[in-house]
Amino acid sequence: MKDNELIMIYGTEYKEMAKQLLEAANLAERIPSKDARIGLKPNLVSPSEASWGATTHPQVVAGAIEYLQAHGFHNLVILEGSWVGDRTGEAFEVCGYSRLVQEYGVPFIDTQKDGWHTKDCAGMELEICDCVKQLDVLINLPVLKGHCQTKITCALKNMKGLIPNREKRHFHGMGLHKPIAHLNAGIHQDFILVDNICGDLDFEDGGNPVVMNRLIAAVDPVLCDAYVCRMLHYEPQEVPYIHMAEELGVGSADLSRLEIRALNEPEQQTELPRERKIVELQDAVEEVESCSACYGYLIPALDRLKQEGLLEKLDTRIAIGQGYRKKTGRLGIGSCTSCFTHSLKGCPPTEEQMYEFLKQYLS
Ligand code: SF4
Repeated sequence: MKDNELIMIYGTEYKEMAKQLLEAANLAERIPSKDARIGLKPNLVSPSEASWGATTHPQVVAGAIEYLQAHGFHNLVILEGSWVGDRTGEAFEVCGYSRLVQEYGVPFIDTQKDGWHTKDCAGMELEICDCVKQLDVLINLPVLKGHCQTKITCALKNMKGLIPNREKRHFHGMGLHKPIAHLNAGIHQDFILVDNICGDLDFEDGGNPVVMNRLIAAVDPVLCDAYVCRMLHYEPQEVPYIHMAEELGVGSADLSRLEIRALNEPEQQTELPRERKIVELQDAVEEVESCSACYGYLIPALDRLKQEGLLEKLDTRIAIGQGYRKKTGRLGIGSCTSCFTHSLKGCPPTEEQMYEFLKQYLS
């Protein structure tokens, strides 16, 4: 496939679709040797089944493994680390990856437990997990989703699973966009197989899946993410890490160059809503450098309160994030707001704890 191309396939037989897509993209031709160490990087952000809209369907990874093994590639490894607040080991079980490992004999590396090294990523020093250094080829298997801080998440942001937890926290302290762009200058992804089966278009950790039943193959992560923006009714400029990555030479966001090749047609077209639920809920929050899990749990908790008619009673904005450490205020979520008059402990607290705490405050 060409670097400016996206190849798409629709259906419900995800494993077979992945194999057909990789054949059409001729992935094998991009891999330098049969002995190449090939890393498969899915999204296992939290322990929830793929139908929930947050994690990569194991059938898609199975399709990629079967394709690669059928073409004689035997040195495969799956690598991933969940977000801060959840253990990868739990996601590995719940998301069906332990079965994959057993069935195909492909090892799994939990990057939360891996060592790390510092790397100069186009002028920014970042901590990267050691397992990345040992790869010859990296195949990215992100879920196409919405994200409550960056609006979208797909190819570029999925690389965050390859850094240690302390660097994930640090990313939020640096404003997320710039370090995501630099991380992609430091870690080259060779091929992208996007799970666009039923990603949640509002929340990174799922709960509102939107069924699209589509897989997308791409080579350029910047072009891929620029396309995702357009699909979700955002301009690529609204997601700053896309152009930052382009400026660092990671790829091209020029959608006028994009060529789309569909291998079949969807059974029915899905019209994506323009209004995102997230935008209304964000008005209730004052966020400064919050971690993905902390913010990601808060928004669904607010959604529940809104549906119960309680959110309209809110008399102040809810503070969240590392920027509130040692600061005072009225209402805050997480240990970072421990000096606030009303503060929920935890790093991060769970969605349920946030819901109960805010419910009590509102009533
Ligand atoms: S309490 Fe602070 S450090 Fe902990 S997860 Fe939340 S924002 Fe991050």
